[in-house]
Amino acid sequence: MLLILQCIRDRHDFPLVLLAALVCALTAIGTVRLSRQIRWAHGREKTAWLATTGIVAGLGIWATHFIAMLGYDPGFVFGYDFAETAASLAIVLGTSVAALLLAARFDSKTGSFCSALLMGGGVAAMHYLGMAALEMPAIIRWDLGYVVVSVVLAIAPFTLAIPLALRGQSAGTGAAAAMLMAFAVVLLHFTGMTAISLIPSRADFSSDTMMSPRAMSLWVFVAAFSTLAIAATAAAISRRAEIMMRRNERLNNERLELVGRRLDLALENMHQGLCLFGADGQLVLWNQRFLEMYRLAPGDIRLGMTMRDIAQAAIGNRAPPAEIERRVMRVLNNLDAALESHGRAPDVSEYDDFVVSVRSRPLPDGGWVSTFDDITEQRRTEARIEHLALHDGLTGLPNRSKFNDLMDRAIDIAAHSGARLGVVVLDLDGFKEINDSRGHAAGDEALKAVAASLREAMLEGQNVARLGGDEFAATVLFRENHELADFVDRISTCFNGPSGSGAGDFVVKASFGVAAYPEDGLDREQLCNNADLAMYRAKENLGERICYYEKGMDESARYRRQIAADLRGAAERGELIILYQAQRTLKDGCISGYEALLRWHHPARGLVTPCEFIPIAEETGEIFAIGEWVLRQACREAARWPEHHMVAVNLSAVQLGLPNLPEIIAGILVETGLPPRRLELEITETAIIGDKARALHILRKLKAMGVSIAIDDFGTGYSSLDTLNSFPFDKIKIDKSFVTGSEDRPQARAIIRAVLALGRSLDVPVLAEGVETHLHVDLLQAEGCDQVQGFLFGRPQCAPSLMAAAGMEVDGASAGSAAAHMLHSAGSTPS
Ligand code: C2E
Ligand code: CA
Ligand code: CA
Repeated sequence: MLLILQCIRDRHDFPLVLLAALVCALTAIGTVRLSRQIRWAHGREKTAWLATTGIVAGLGIWATHFIAMLGYDPGFVFGYDFAETAASLAIVLGTSVAALLLAARFDSKTGSFCSALLMGGGVAAMHYLGMAALEMPAIIRWDLGYVVVSVVLAIAPFTLAIPLALRGQSAGTGAAAAMLMAFAVVLLHFTGMTAISLIPSRADFSSDTMMSPRAMSLWVFVAAFSTLAIAATAAAISRRAEIMMRRNERLNNERLELVGRRLDLALENMHQGLCLFGADGQLVLWNQRFLEMYRLAPGDIRLGMTMRDIAQAAIGNRAPPAEIERRVMRVLNNLDAALESHGRAPDVSEYDDFVVSVRSRPLPDGGWVSTFDDITEQRRTEARIEHLALHDGLTGLPNRSKFNDLMDRAIDIAAHSGARLGVVVLDLDGFKEINDSRGHAAGDEALKAVAASLREAMLEGQNVARLGGDEFAATVLFRENHELADFVDRISTCFNGPSGSGAGDFVVKASFGVAAYPEDGLDREQLCNNADLAMYRAKENLGERICYYEKGMDESARYRRQIAADLRGAAERGELIILYQAQRTLKDGCISGYEALLRWHHPARGLVTPCEFIPIAEETGEIFAIGEWVLRQACREAARWPEHHMVAVNLSAVQLGLPNLPEIIAGILVETGLPPRRLELEITETAIIGDKARALHILRKLKAMGVSIAIDDFGTGYSSLDTLNSFPFDKIKIDKSFVTGSEDRPQARAIIRAVLALGRSLDVPVLAEGVETHLHVDLLQAEGCDQVQGFLFGRPQCAPSLMAAAGMEVDGASAGSAAAHMLHSAGSTPS
């Protein structure tokens, strides 16, 4: 050490040593400064910065060495060998750049050591090569010990200096790095100088390959200046870059903070609940919505909780204690499954008043995010929509599609249990009339009342549905026939009277069709069709409300469908004609009028009687057109008859449901010119009973117009005194079955007698239909009957006006003799 200090003091020129120290210090500072810059750069830019830094270091160290060399004056230096000097520069530049590249690439102790080895080794090599470049009349003798020490002293500081320069953060580490670098250079130099002693000898060099000390000073100055210039320029650039960097960093931080704040805002205002977990399965982030969903207090959830902890806390607030563990296990299992398979459907958990859909997705960092959707309302809406889709909006009963489903299931049960399934189809009678006359609100009320009582009538395993309009259906599983009969009975009692139906002051009746599995059909469609057929049969037979399916009904249904189709437009095609049957006064045998009776000449089937096609026309509504046609034809015909001949036209119950019937009839009377008093409308009692109030209202209007009203087929239907009492009929027509049966059935005679007595007491004339024999005439005359009609006096025949025009006798021979018999019995003269 002492030697080293002596060497500095004795063998060096002090100002140059100071200059060397200055250059060395600036080089070290520049190198550290530039090293710090490297961390901002990437890729090629980084390599460029590293190379620049290496060049600054190498150039500076080289300049330092040679300034010191210039200051080292053994007294006889002639110059410097050019090649060796250049080699020393090349070595120190190369090793410096390589050392920095190495250190930057390998951030480890070994990396640092190798880099220091390269750097220190390079500097040492430069030093000794520089020494060798000295051209002087002396031989250099080396003290190997000092040489080794100098190399170690060159390398050791770099092992710390390089990592500090490249990776240190603070100004302190930077200063330390610079100091260590300067130390390395200085220690190497002066220890190296101490290691040599010069032994004078004859100079042996050529001035061709030699640089003079003056030239050398110039080069050294250039090198030192370049070092400083590069370092300064680089530092300026780096400063600017750093300022930019820092500004960007600050902006980024601000942006990050803003994004963070927005993220918080978004999280807190999210519709979904959210929990974010790290790769270690611990809770990292959650939002307020999640707490709300599970009614958790802010303190219930903490950072670092596991999914199990959270599930326990959350589910504990929603499910009964007994269910918690099972539900927690389910959550954990579903989580595992969700994290394993992407795109898995969300897991839906249902609590009493809360339905939640949980979806978990794995994150790239190994954690996962679970989101929670409250779908309670959605579920309710879905349930509501499903209910709406499967139930009838008005009555709340299952609709047709739900009924189909229920029935399929019931058939299945029956098939597997050996039971039978009864299907009852029911259709309200005259519902259209309720709607027309009382308004749709009343119709709706009636349907609701019917539905309510039907629903009440159902027991376990029985179903009722509204198939549409006024059609309902019910099913029952049964084994014995009487069980089905009981079921049908119970349903039918829903229609027993106004209070039973609950539909207010009017009675709602229905027709029932019944079919049973397996005997009447093996599938839903067949069973329903057959029950429908039976129901239509029940509708036709006004007396029978309940009809069980029988084989052969399909045939008749097909026939009816065909008739209905053929009947459409029959009047326009001229297939309908009207026959007229005379009605006579029994007292004098004179014709009082004719009953118009409809006939249909079917192009294929021939003559079809009204009994066959009128019910079908009533069902299809064709009766409205046909009825109007009959009225018009009959009135037009009657207008051609003698003044005192009436025309009787049959009116269907369905026609009586037409609210504007009086106006239609008035129009026809005006159009045909027939005085209203010459028109008599025949109405059966059943036509009135359906909706009595409305029927009577219409009849009153007709009567007010001057039209007569006769009650037809009296004695067959209800034959209630109440009906006769409720309206001032102009005529009672005793049904022909009593007259034809009067010869051998005393009851028939009794009924004729009773009806005649009734007519007398009410002061209403009575007409007996179906008079076929003289015996009938005698009987009726004896009982005081007013009028007669029957084959004895003439069959229904073509229009009287046509007969008169053709010069034919209207009544024919038998009619003439019957009239004579009548007169004979009564003792008066015929007209
Ligand atoms: P209804 O009103 O009781 O008509 C009397 C029926 O008895 C007629 O049958 C007639 O031909 C028949 N008849 C008349 N005298 C005798 C007799 O001495 N012995 C027997 N056994 N029968 C006799 P028709 O013409 O076949 O009419 C059947 C039913 O069709 C009528 O019964 C009536 O309810 C209905 N009908 C006929 N024409 C019309 C119409 O234009 N409109 C409506 N709505 N119904 C009609
Ligand atoms: Ca009649
Ligand atoms: Ca009749």
